[in-house]
Amino acid sequence: MIIFNSIPELKKHLDSIRNQQKIIGFVPTMGALHKGHISLINAAKTQSDVIIASIFVNPTQFNDINDLKSYPKNLDSDIQLLKKAGCDVLFAPEIREMYTAKELELKKQQIEDRSWTEGKSIDFGLLDKVMEGMHRPGHFNGVAQVVSKLFRIVEPHKAFFGQKDFQQVAIIRSMVTQLGIPVEIITCPIMREADGLAMSSRNIRLNAEERKKAPLISKTLFKIKELANNKSIPELKAYVAAEINLEPGMRLEYFEIVNSETLQSINDFSQAKSIVACIAVTLGTVRLIDNIILKP
Ligand code: AMP
Repeated sequence: MIIFNSIPELKKHLDSIRNQQKIIGFVPTMGALHKGHISLINAAKTQSDVIIASIFVNPTQFNDINDLKSYPKNLDSDIQLLKKAGCDVLFAPEIREMYTAKELELKKQQIEDRSWTEGKSIDFGLLDKVMEGMHRPGHFNGVAQVVSKLFRIVEPHKAFFGQKDFQQVAIIRSMVTQLGIPVEIITCPIMREADGLAMSSRNIRLNAEERKKAPLISKTLFKIKELANNKSIPELKAYVAAEINLEPGMRLEYFEIVNSETLQSINDFSQAKSIVACIAVTLGTVRLIDNIILKP
């Protein structure tokens, strides 16, 4: 695996790969890799000739400075995992390689930087306003900013994202369509621990007691899927709120049943063709998200 920190050197290498007519598959990550990330590498391997992963803890998508500071970092073991998985190229830039001083200053002053739209007027509709968008102001602007930068640097043919971050994939799909970025976005299934907990870099921040409680989140989602045939959406929402909030130390941030395309909340299953249930929970100081598709 070749590791690059510099954009010009990476671009030169990728240009030569593109000149050989090879398909470039890209897996962007923030590191602290687990089997969920590796499943994206494996998916990329089946559909591309050269796999590139990136590791970059993107400061502009964090609305909470403590969350950014405590985000787990483990570059050495990440490199070993990527090598073992058969990744060909790793891009692991420093912050200054990705952002200008001006961009970082805007973030510091909490001014939304829309320069990534390159002057185009982009409308995400509800996609960046509900759920994560509502609870993490500025988060999706930071995601779109960094992913659009990465796509312009890497120019991949295909990019692989996890369904674990359902709303993020919706934003990225909409962004590439609206900006006309020629990349195919592929969504990969959620990888779970044996007890059902969705794998996440944040799981290692759970203490032993919290880790024992955490599978309640996925257990509740699986139950919702089972109950969806004979309970109304308000009944399902009440069930989730009771299950989660009755567990000491756990707090439900939101549980929404939404149209998978628009992310519009629905009150009745007849209101959308494809439907997903999304949840965010805080457990101690750790914020966890998960989702389950109710109608594909
Ligand atoms: P992150 O490093 O958290 O930004 O995640 C990088 C990519 O891995 C994103 O596309 C995530 O959706 C994906 N990912 C994270 N957790 C999982 C998981 N449990 N299963 C599948 N993909 C995941």
